[in-house]
Amino acid sequence: MDDQMDDEIEFNVQTFVPAELDYVRDSLTRGHASANGAYSRQVRQLLQAETGAAEVLLTTSCTAALELSAMLLDLQPGDTVIVPSFSFTTTALAFVRQGARLLFCDIEPRTLGLDPRHVAELLADPVHGPTVRAVVVVHYAGIACDVAGIREALAERPDVALVEDNAHGLFGRWRGEPLGSLGRFSTLSFHETKNISCGEGGALVLNDPADVARSWVHYDKGTDRQAFLQGQVDKYSWRDTGSSFGLADPLAAILLAQVEERDVIQGRRRAVFERYLSGLSPHADALGLALPDVPEDREPAYHLFHVLLPEAERRGEVIEAMKARGVPTAFHYVPLHDSDGGRLFSAAPGECPTSTDVSARLLRLPFHQELEASDCDRVVAALADVLSGM
Ligand SMILES: *Cc1c(COP(=O)(O)O)cnc(C)c1O
Repeated sequence: MDDQMDDEIEFNVQTFVPAELDYVRDSLTRGHASANGAYSRQVRQLLQAETGAAEVLLTTSCTAALELSAMLLDLQPGDTVIVPSFSFTTTALAFVRQGARLLFCDIEPRTLGLDPRHVAELLADPVHGPTVRAVVVVHYAGIACDVAGIREALAERPDVALVEDNAHGLFGRWRGEPLGSLGRFSTLSFHETKNISCGEGGALVLNDPADVARSWVHYDKGTDRQAFLQGQVDKYSWRDTGSSFGLADPLAAILLAQVEERDVIQGRRRAVFERYLSGLSPHADALGLALPDVPEDREPAYHLFHVLLPEAERRGEVIEAMKARGVPTAFHYVPLHDSDGGRLFSAAPGECPTSTDVSARLLRLPFHQELEASDCDRVVAALADVLSGM
């Protein structure tokens, strides 16, 4: 082993830009550290310009934004929500907390996004189809799902809301349209593992102006405080259900510094993605490796880099062998339909075979904006070496 082999490559490094420190210091001296201060307003404006949204609300997490979107759906007992089995728990849990039951949907193998054929099947079910109030999509790794297919499956059901859990997709595009602008609601995550991060944070992007006034009531502890601040009512009071969703302004200050640097951050992540792709492509067939496949009409958001191994049974060994070469790698979501929570809250048992297969074979490589080309080459060489020796 040479010296270089001894240092571990980091799997994830939280995004940091130097201006954050000045912005946070400034925000702490302004006398407004709670939600919706000066920094929040600027971040909301930038995200609104990016997505063309009617409104953007900064929240304490993507999970909180999903919960807020579930409140806006006015879910009633017996209502169901279609969610991908291959996703993070709160893509589903947020709707369960508001009283819905779940219909788990499979993914399609190309983009690992929701499979429109399975969506159509679930909607056509004579018992459960009529109970569906929303379909939640994820743009896995920041690559847009089959939006056209999903829209087609929903064409006869204008009563079913499309929700984008866009935790991976900020700054990605589908046919030129920004991810996050395609659903009635879309949610963002600023968790430390995401491209733009303030530790813990999120946003709800509202694409239908009719949702804006109510969303502020749910956001502001069930009160019409926002209408009061805008001079629309002369005092504010309790109006509806809600909670305390707002992101503190010093955290928004971190976000502003990073959103202002989005082209640099995204450019670095793109370089890592492309270096992995061009490095692995020549080996893929011989090693039986499936690489990310970006359809022509989509621009990724470069959230992560995944490969599918030929054999699920050997993944544990691959992870160990990579670790021994100083390269941490990771699997990802365990299918929700096959989890205890999923069984507890599902409206009907069902199979999601592609989710099960992909979940067992998927491996994520180190991915963050501080990886240099030489690091990427080392990861590629290690993976080719490990797999060819098996
Ligand atoms: C990260 C993530 C979440 C949760 O985000 P938080 O901000 O941690 O609540 C939800 N959905 C997906 C797809 C995610 O990747």
